[in-house]
Amino acid sequence: LGGRISRAIQQMSDATIIDEKVLNECLNEITRALLSADVQFQLVRDMQKNIKAIVNLEDLAAGHNKRKIIQRAIFNELCKMLDPGKPSFTPKKGKPSIIMFVGLQGSGKTTTCTKYAYYHQKKGWKPALVCADTFRAGAFDQLKQNATKAKIPFYGSYTESDPVKIAVEGVETFKKENCDLIIVDTSGRHKQEASLFEEMRQVSEATKPDLVIFVMDSSIGQAAFDQAQAFKQSVPVGAVIVTKMDGHAKGGGALSAVAATKSPVIFIGTGEHMDEFEVFDVKPFVSRLLGMGDWTGFMDKIHEVVPMDQQPELLQKLSEGNFTLRIMYEQFQNILKMGPIGQVFSMLPGFSQELMPKGREKESQAKIKRYMTMMDSMTNEELDSTNPKLMNESRIMRIARGSGRQVREVMEMMEEYKRLAKIWSKMKGLKIPTRGDMNMR
Ligand code: GDP
Ligand code: MG
Repeated sequence: LGGRISRAIQQMSDATIIDEKVLNECLNEITRALLSADVQFQLVRDMQKNIKAIVNLEDLAAGHNKRKIIQRAIFNELCKMLDPGKPSFTPKKGKPSIIMFVGLQGSGKTTTCTKYAYYHQKKGWKPALVCADTFRAGAFDQLKQNATKAKIPFYGSYTESDPVKIAVEGVETFKKENCDLIIVDTSGRHKQEASLFEEMRQVSEATKPDLVIFVMDSSIGQAAFDQAQAFKQSVPVGAVIVTKMDGHAKGGGALSAVAATKSPVIFIGTGEHMDEFEVFDVKPFVSRLLGMGDWTGFMDKIHEVVPMDQQPELLQKLSEGNFTLRIMYEQFQNILKMGPIGQVFSMLPGFSQELMPKGREKESQAKIKRYMTMMDSMTNEELDSTNPKLMNESRIMRIARGSGRQVREVMEMMEEYKRLAKIWSKMKGLKIPTRGDMNMR
């Protein structure tokens, strides 16, 4: 998608006269690209109108940064479409909140319930899971297994067939146990059926959830809008979680879900495992949707903060996609040297949220320095390796001893490294615009 959009913009910039016709052709190509990324037709059409209103033909004619103007307009429009204008209900630690999950069968509800519970448990909450799916055989077993693995209390029944009864009993049980996050997993059907929506309405009425989360499989494509809308019409959906963002899904469905439910996306699922779960952040998501299409901003930042002589090398490394510990070390050096922490890295989706949360720059800086001390005890082989299996137990112990840190800390750093490597690898093979490309004319 990112490629198609930049091609469309490129073609336009080659045209000598930028008139309405040229701009329209460019916008039409962008429209086709967005449709193929599963953005709903209606939304794309609105967006096209908005962009046309923003992109002033006179500005274009003047020849100033045409590409930049249009790219920014697309980026901003997509961001706006993902922001329903009001935040979702946020549970408060220590106060019981009931969270109900809805969505079609297979969308990832049960998995996401556990991820959501696990995520909060790690932050000191007391979550609990209630299995109100009596439709699918094996539903309770699945939830039980997940919950047991994460050491989260659960409630359900093998024999009771009334989902409302189980939901109410489960909620009551966990209220008494002072759980502060009571999560109700519900059933789905393969298709949207009246009986499903009636069941959701009943469970919702009986348990009075503080928040209903609509779980959507990102690969459902253009069906997203109708599906989200159907749930919203039955229960008060207040937030969206988009799952399976690790697959081939293009993500455009998230825009539909937001439009149909008028609720924000709060998390995305990026794998089958419990910790493959990310806080949703609009800008990085849009970058990802555009195939790192926000190169404009990202490259500007690189040009701004990375020393000129190091830029070609960094860009080369980015496009190769291999993130070694040495690259991490060098980037940490840059971050510390270049002042305001994370200027470059914070432009990369997923980097800023966890490594350098806003307002905690001091701590982040200390952490980065700690990591660098540990990396100082690594061999060249370790620093340059692209083999994740190289770092065995004995190497980790040696590094801990050598740097005077705990084994646990070295392992934590390696986890961080793996996380960053995964993000870095997403940029593999991308054609990176050069400086000249970006500042056309
Ligand atoms: P439910 O029917 O809505 O409860 O869906 P499940 O939680 O049972 O999930 C259906 C399938 O999708 C399972 O095989 C999950 O492991 C898988 N799944 C859920 N979330 C994700 C995700 O974010 N990424 C991937 N790759 N698979 C997922
Ligand atoms: Mg389920």
